[in-house]
Amino acid sequence: MSQPGAGFDIYAHLQARPSPHMHCPHCNGVGGASPNPELVFACNLCGAPRIMMPDGMPVEPATLGLLQKADRARKKRGFLAGLGVVGAVGAAFGLLVTLITFFISVGWSLLPALLFVAPSILAIVFARGARGAATKEIASSIDAAWISAAGDLVRAGKIKSAADLSRVTGVDPGRAQQVFTMLTVDADLGASHVRIDAGPVVAQVPVDPRFAALEERERQAEAEASAALDARAKGRSG
Ligand SMILES: [Zn+2]
Repeated sequence: MSQPGAGFDIYAHLQARPSPHMHCPHCNGVGGASPNPELVFACNLCGAPRIMMPDGMPVEPATLGLLQKADRARKKRGFLAGLGVVGAVGAAFGLLVTLITFFISVGWSLLPALLFVAPSILAIVFARGARGAATKEIASSIDAAWISAAGDLVRAGKIKSAADLSRVTGVDPGRAQQVFTMLTVDADLGASHVRIDAGPVVAQVPVDPRFAALEERERQAEAEASAALDARAKGRSG
């Protein structure tokens, strides 16, 4: 048995703080996160999507809101998967009862068909459609959360490129590139903010004066073109 040496502090564990990466803002558990093909990173304890900011930077409320939205869609999809299974079991049971009743009385076999088979099939169809919608919502919320987090990191001066984003957050380079492209597209469009599904504001990007100038030039060109067309039409009719 090892003896505690000089300076051994039996209360050391009370001062030791886990790395902020270990702490989950969803479940408040301290279990870290693992790569996940759909959620990018998922909490090892509750399975919610995570973004691990560097240098102990907190996940901003807007970003967290988007991650929570993705998590709600994920849980909903889990419930719908259960509903699909219940529907399949109900349909199988209903078909069996319908078949048995059919041999006794054709008329009476309509009863189990209406009571079990029809609602079960409706449940299966509904669950499938709603699951597809939930999957899309997860993907769009995760994208929006990463764009938001990348925007925060750019503004904090922590990153300048997709390679930086990949390095500081551990996200794979391919997705980092994707996130950065979406972030730059938002900035190039000169949108003061980007909304996704009327969720929280995703990224605050200053309005680009170049864009306003471009719009002005376009308006002018349009006016000139329509004036030229009017003149031509007048010349033809006159
Ligand atoms: Zn968690």
